[in-house]
Amino acid sequence: MSDCIFCKIANKEAKSNIVFEDDMVVAFRDLDPKAPEHVLIIPKKHIESINKLEQVDKELAAHILVDVVPKVAQKLKIDESGYRVVINTGDEGGQTVKHLHVHVLGGRNMTWPPG
Ligand code: AMP
Repeated sequence: MSDCIFCKIANKEAKSNIVFEDDMVVAFRDLDPKAPEHVLIIPKKHIESINKLEQVDKELAAHILVDVVPKVAQKLKIDESGYRVVINTGDEGGQTVKHLHVHVLGGRNMTWPPG
């Protein structure tokens, strides 16, 4: 989508600090980190939220969880210490950017329940 900041990051129209990229996803550092390590994983394809995932996106969704999250955690060196994976969805879920993104947060103790 032309006015979507994460689409712009995915197609390099907007700057970001990329930590991992392949043909399906880009992972980049959050501009306003909520933990010492905070990376966002986005599909290159514009998908508004989990609610808009379709059957054809199964491979992509599995790829993010099975391949990319662990790879990013290893790169950030938080795979052993532990980390949190968050997908805010919709207004009450706290989603501010309407392009599906997976937060990977680590480097400190996380609290529960989340705010
Ligand atoms: P959410 O509140 O789950 O929609 O998360 C959106 C996240 O995107 C927030 O943590 C923001 O700090 C982050 N963010 C917004 N714009 C950018 C950007 N241009 N580059 C990196 N992170 C961004």
